[in-house]
Parts: sequence; structure tokens; C-alpha cells
Amino acid sequence: MLRDGEVALRRLLTGSVVVGELPLGCDLCQRGLKLVLFITGLCPSRCFYCPLSRDRRYVDVMFANEARISSVSEALEEARLMDAQGTGVTGGDPLVVLERTLEAIRALKREFGSDHHVHLYTTGLAATPAALRRLREAGLDEVRFHVFRPTPALEEARRLGFTVGVEIPMLPDRVEETVKLLGELDRAGVDFVNINELEFTETNALSLLERGYELREDSPVAAKGSREAAMAVLEWAESNTNLNVHFCPASVKDAFQTKLRLYRRAVNIAEPYELVTDDGTLLRIEVEFSDAGTLRRALARVGTLACAVEGAKLVLGVDAAEVAVKLAESLGGTAYLREYLPTPSHTLVRSERLAR
Ligand code: SF4
Repeated sequence: MLRDGEVALRRLLTGSVVVGELPLGCDLCQRGLKLVLFITGLCPSRCFYCPLSRDRRYVDVMFANEARISSVSEALEEARLMDAQGTGVTGGDPLVVLERTLEAIRALKREFGSDHHVHLYTTGLAATPAALRRLREAGLDEVRFHVFRPTPALEEARRLGFTVGVEIPMLPDRVEETVKLLGELDRAGVDFVNINELEFTETNALSLLERGYELREDSPVAAKGSREAAMAVLEWAESNTNLNVHFCPASVKDAFQTKLRLYRRAVNIAEPYELVTDDGTLLRIEVEFSDAGTLRRALARVGTLACAVEGAKLVLGVDAAEVAVKLAESLGGTAYLREYLPTPSHTLVRSERLAR
């Protein structure tokens, strides 16, 4: 039972807090079902809190999830590997490379069907009526504007039938301004507002510190006071608007979105000798030998066990750990339990020596 003055904010398992409905794009994203297509780092804005990493910031590069790519077809391949149910087209500002963005949206819809939900982030600075119309014709479902006041582009996007949202970071000292913005967006009829916890990154840390923002003691990335400020805004929105408002904590990305996305990719690419962990990593046993002759002798002894040869390594499943240890001890190799990210970079995240 609510007491006077209390409001009902819905807290999700992921840590998100919602007034009204969670936007469809966010729901799919939090469940790790969306491909993150970084279509360019180019952007006409220079936000002081811009979180983009050095290799992406204001340069014309493309990434599909964590992988650097150079074509739309590579993005489709990544979407296939993770069994994506939708795509978030991000940047930079995707409208700076409008033709490439249109090509990607058309290709995604053609390849995965009209149900493949596509949302796009933009500053709105290049969102002319003609550009929005072409995006709609290409099949784009949802536009998220990074703006601090309603603009004609929001109205035009609504008229064209997009789901229209506004997405901003929560600056801890801007509760009053954000409340005012939400009032205006409510009157403008936007479908939702997404408020992100302000995050420190290697590229924006100095700029945030200079403005007096600080890290929260219990988080390596979240800014102090951002969550509390967002809660105040959500409580106000619950009582004073009809908006759907979603607060997305910094922890969601690592704890849910990325982990679940990695898990789906890992399941799809795991070799028979690799075990997919709950964290979405791949576990395997590797036995390293110093010469090809010894490796051949080891291979002859593994019988029907699932295995592979990679360079001078024999790779086996974790259920063959005992066999691997015996091979290492008898033939003079070194056995390891190793854990990798299921990404194209195949990054090693753990290596534990088992024998020799
Ligand atoms: S709009 Fe986004 S990508 Fe562009 S500067 Fe601002 S935060 Fe960075």
C-alpha cells in the first residue's frame, strides 16, 4: 500500500527503474538480443560527457558489437552469430553517414524480416524531414533523439509513425532542468524518455572531474548522485506526466546486456571441445608442445575425444582434463585450463596451468 506522497516506480531484475512501460528497444537490449551496430564515430556534437573510447571517438569506423568491421555484410554475419532479434544503430551520429545507415537498415530488414526491431540514436541535427522519411521507408522502427529540448524533428518523426524517444545522461546537478524537459516532452507527445546513469570513461573522466562530478565509491564507472537525481526525476514524471520513463543504470551494460549477448554468441560458435560458461565465455584445455613430432604423438593418443590442433597446441574439452595432464607429463608438454571471450578477438581472460 502506498503512503501519501509515495509513488510506484517499477524496479526490474536488471536494476533498471521504470515509470510506465520499458521501451521495446531497451527490453531486447537488456536481454542481450540486440546487435549493437556502431555505424560511425563521426558526430556533429561535442558533449563534454561523451563516453566514446579513443578508437571510436569522432572517427569514421564501424563496429558490430565488439568487432571492428568494414562492411554492412560483416554486421549481418555478426547478427547471425548472436542470433539477434533486433539491432541498435549507434555512433557518433548515424545520420552523418545517412547512405550507409540506410543500407544497413535495409539489409537487416531484408535478411532477418520486418520483425527484426531496429532503433537508432541521433543528435537530430541532420534529421531533416527528407532524411527521416527515407529512414522510415528503409524500415527503421524507433528513433532516440539526444536532445535537451523538443525539436521539429521529434514532431516529424512522430508524424511518420516512428516510436520516438529521447535519451540523455542524468547529470546529478540538473534535476530541475530535466524535470522541465520531461514536461515539455510530455506535451510534445514523445513515447518515452531514457535516462542513463552518468558514466566515467577513460576519455571523459577529466572533463567530468573538471566540472565537479565524482565517481560513486561503490562503482568503477558510475557518477556520484546520478542515480539519486534520476530517481527524483522519475518520481516527478510518475505524478506529473503520461510519459514512459526508464532509468538505465551503468551496471546493466556489463551485468546483463553484454553478458547475455556474449552468451548467445558463445552458444552459436562453440566448438565441440569448448564449454560455454554462465558468463558467456568459452572454456577449454590446451596442451602446448615444443615440436610437431610430439604433438603428432599426443594426437594419436587422444582417440575419439573431441579435439583440435592450433599451431603447436592440442585443444581438448574440460572433461578431458585428466587425459591432458597425462599427455603433458608423459610427453613433456604443458597443460592449461583457458577461458576466452567468444568475440572475434578471442581474448584470453584466464589461464591456469594444470601440469608441468
Ligand atoms: S551526441 Fe553522443 S556521440 Fe555525439 S558527442 Fe554527444 S555523447 Fe558523443
